[in-house]
Amino acid sequence: MNPFSQLPSVDRLLAEEQISLMVERHGCALVTNLVRDVLADARSEIKGGGAAPSLATLVARVGAGDTPLSTPKLRPVLNLTGTVLHTNLGRAVLPEEAIAAIVSAARSPCALEFDLQSGGRGDRDEIVNDLLCKITGAEAATVVNNNAAAVFLLLNTLAQKKRVIVSRGELVEIGGAFRIPDIMSRAGAKLIEVGTTNRTHLKGFVAAIDEAPLARTAMLMKVHTSNYSIQGFTHSVAESELAELAHRHGLPMVTDLGSGTLVDFRLWGLPYEPTASEAIAAGADLVTFSGDKLLGGPQAGMLVGKRELIEKIKKNPLKRALRVGKITLAALEAVLRLYLDPDRLPHRLTTLRHLTRTEADIREQTLRLLPGLLEALTELPVNVEVVPLRSQIGSGALPADRLESAGFAIRPKGKRSGVLNLIERRLRHVDYPGRPIIGRIDDGSLLLDLRCLDSVDEDDFLACLAALKAPQ
Ligand SMILES: *Cc1c(COP(=O)(O)O)cnc(C)c1O
Repeated sequence: MNPFSQLPSVDRLLAEEQISLMVERHGCALVTNLVRDVLADARSEIKGGGAAPSLATLVARVGAGDTPLSTPKLRPVLNLTGTVLHTNLGRAVLPEEAIAAIVSAARSPCALEFDLQSGGRGDRDEIVNDLLCKITGAEAATVVNNNAAAVFLLLNTLAQKKRVIVSRGELVEIGGAFRIPDIMSRAGAKLIEVGTTNRTHLKGFVAAIDEAPLARTAMLMKVHTSNYSIQGFTHSVAESELAELAHRHGLPMVTDLGSGTLVDFRLWGLPYEPTASEAIAAGADLVTFSGDKLLGGPQAGMLVGKRELIEKIKKNPLKRALRVGKITLAALEAVLRLYLDPDRLPHRLTTLRHLTRTEADIREQTLRLLPGLLEALTELPVNVEVVPLRSQIGSGALPADRLESAGFAIRPKGKRSGVLNLIERRLRHVDYPGRPIIGRIDDGSLLLDLRCLDSVDEDDFLACLAALKAPQ
């Protein structure tokens, strides 16, 4: 008998009970596609000399597509990696005020580019302009998709076919292939490096300016080397000296701050990171920074500084291609408002709350959750210990500094190192709508750092531990 004729029709498969339930859940179009794919695979198998799969096999193959169809790809997870601003986990977690603003901007039309005073057309930058100026001391501000876009737009507007003088020690690469030299050439600017990797002096900048007719130089630039530090025999030129030199030649001085905090983090016992207002006060004409790093907001790139330069940047047609949407602006406005009341910031800004949690507080939480973890792991050959850990700020910010933290160390009994990978995988494969737990394997232990586990997430954490009991 012709094995092809043994295959059921699409309609026959759709009529199967399990598959018709899938149609109710996901709609006819999606499930019919799935059925066609499964039948096409079966025909290739037959062409390759195989037998026709049975009806039950075909139904099971279609059924295997059920979970992927109903599971979103952008799954919420529990970040127990110990890195607070984890780029691969979406960086800053937004405060409730920003979440509420996002929901209302999404749900209803909003005055995005509409001036409610005059009834005329508005400018979306006006939504955050006053806040950014008040907080940083700048004259004007604009917002784009991320800081990489901010740097690109700045260079493309002010330095096309012109020289940009930067210290060699600041030609950084930020993860994900953002390298300052590449962004410069794509933006059409000509990079002029001065100094050596570890030492740059003002006279290097003076010589670079004097090397070519002044009209060919666009700016002096400073890049905050947020993701690494050079120690030992080092020298760099202070922002104020660089600004003064630039201004003496009628050139602008621009600073890419990267992480860009808006307040001095030392107020809360955290390591020092330069602020946008310090850069402005030191004489920088333009400053760029990210929205979703230490600022604790949505992904965005801020450009703040002299009004005349911001106006030029806003006129670049690429601004239109790099602009942010209403969801981002809603979140950013809400987050920036929190900065107007710095005293309450550590309670209200989620990232800052995570960064400022004390080791004692995290340890107490760890001890509270220990019985649940021990119970979930009883059948696996591992030891669990509550250990001191050191969290990282992440996103390239303050790489050398670590925050005292606490969490669990899960270690295999004896030489069964495979068991750690098994546990790590089970925690990652938690069924939807559970939240996968992401830890880190380090030096023979699976570490779960509880710094970013909010008390409201504890129930989710305990529920996900049930996944550890799955049969092997
Ligand atoms: C992170 C960073 C960037 C890129 O910012 P994104 O918001 O990730 O695009 C650029 N410059 C510096 C110095 C940075 O630290």
